[in-house]
Amino acid sequence: MKPNDLPYNYPDASGHFGPYGGSFVSETLVFALDALKEAYEKSKTDPEFQREFHHELKHFVGRPSPIYHARRWSEQLGGAQIYFKREDLNHTGAHKVNNTIGQALLAKRMGKPRVIAETGAGQHGVATATVAARFGMQCVVYMGATDVTRQAANVYRMKLLGAEVVPVHSGSKTLKDALNEAMRDWVTNVEDTFYIIGTVAGPHPYPSMVRDFNSVVGKECLWQMPEIAGRQPDFVLACVGGGSNAMGIFYDYIDKPGVSLVGVEAGGEGLATGHHAASLSAGTPGVLHGNRTYLLQDANGQIIETHSISAGLDYPGVGPEHAWLKDSGRACYVPVNDSEALDAFHTCCRIEGIIPALETSHALAYAAKLAPQLDKDQIILVNLSGRGDKDMHTVAQASGLTL
Ligand SMILES: *Cc1c(COP(=O)(O)O)cnc(C)c1O
Repeated sequence: MKPNDLPYNYPDASGHFGPYGGSFVSETLVFALDALKEAYEKSKTDPEFQREFHHELKHFVGRPSPIYHARRWSEQLGGAQIYFKREDLNHTGAHKVNNTIGQALLAKRMGKPRVIAETGAGQHGVATATVAARFGMQCVVYMGATDVTRQAANVYRMKLLGAEVVPVHSGSKTLKDALNEAMRDWVTNVEDTFYIIGTVAGPHPYPSMVRDFNSVVGKECLWQMPEIAGRQPDFVLACVGGGSNAMGIFYDYIDKPGVSLVGVEAGGEGLATGHHAASLSAGTPGVLHGNRTYLLQDANGQIIETHSISAGLDYPGVGPEHAWLKDSGRACYVPVNDSEALDAFHTCCRIEGIIPALETSHALAYAAKLAPQLDKDQIILVNLSGRGDKDMHTVAQASGLTL
């Protein structure tokens, strides 16, 4: 994307980001998506909705989240100054709640007393169960049976919050099977049910709606960076699973050509092994979850099982807007493998006193690679998407320990 293609104005009216996005759904859902589009468009200019959304972000989530100068790590690396946007300090420990609050408020407006979600690692399930409890809504979360076993603590959290967790036994019993089940539920119960999608994927208007709710992150950075660092960053980094924390911090920087945007994908055991979740670095375009985007698929269009040490990046697709930002050249995407992410995780704990999520650790690992190549007066801003308390078992296991 050249500077003269700005201002950036995507998606178009049909929900396309260049050739990506759109809406590939059954006839039953066309009406539901049209109603959602209309309700969402109205909410954007409705002062009462905006007031309520920002009230929740301030008093329930704890926004604005601070920006922190990782001074010791920057000094050790000997190059650019690294700053963290502290989404880990949000209620529930990550950026995901910014979006679930927004969608729950919309559900309330639309008179839908029941919300459903699908979840892989369980983080989006917890964020959805949290807001359902907050607003007194019935909540059903679909989760692959394998993930239910792997993520027992999050399943218990959801139950404590009053949600019903439905294990899905079809297919590989993981996220993509839970996705299909959630879609099926929505088609059946569309009258009284709102489907809360957890990342910038799904059919139009979900990718732009989830982006807009999360864009509070970048909007805060725009005024916080001059305050703490005297200017805007040279690089903005974020890990990319579906891409919602990345779009949240990228969006308001797209129109600033001097700021480079870098998404960091899960390189797993290395791209050459095939065991990874790097859809943009190694995938091809196709249709999944109601939109066209880059996917990890085989020659017959079958979705390939993905791998990452961080469950939250373990998704075979990516939001369609990232596909467009990649093709247009406005953002670039790089893979970081499991062991690099683990190294960055441990360094961040020891040097900065912050235990980051394993997802986030991918972005931190790339920051640690990039910083020494830059001057000391240059600035890298990393979206610290979440805290790592949930990852204790995984990290201990990787070090040969059991908790
Ligand atoms: C879920 C999650 C992610 C990945 O999701 P995106 O939609 O790509 O942001 C990243 N970081 C944390 C902490 C998460 O919980």
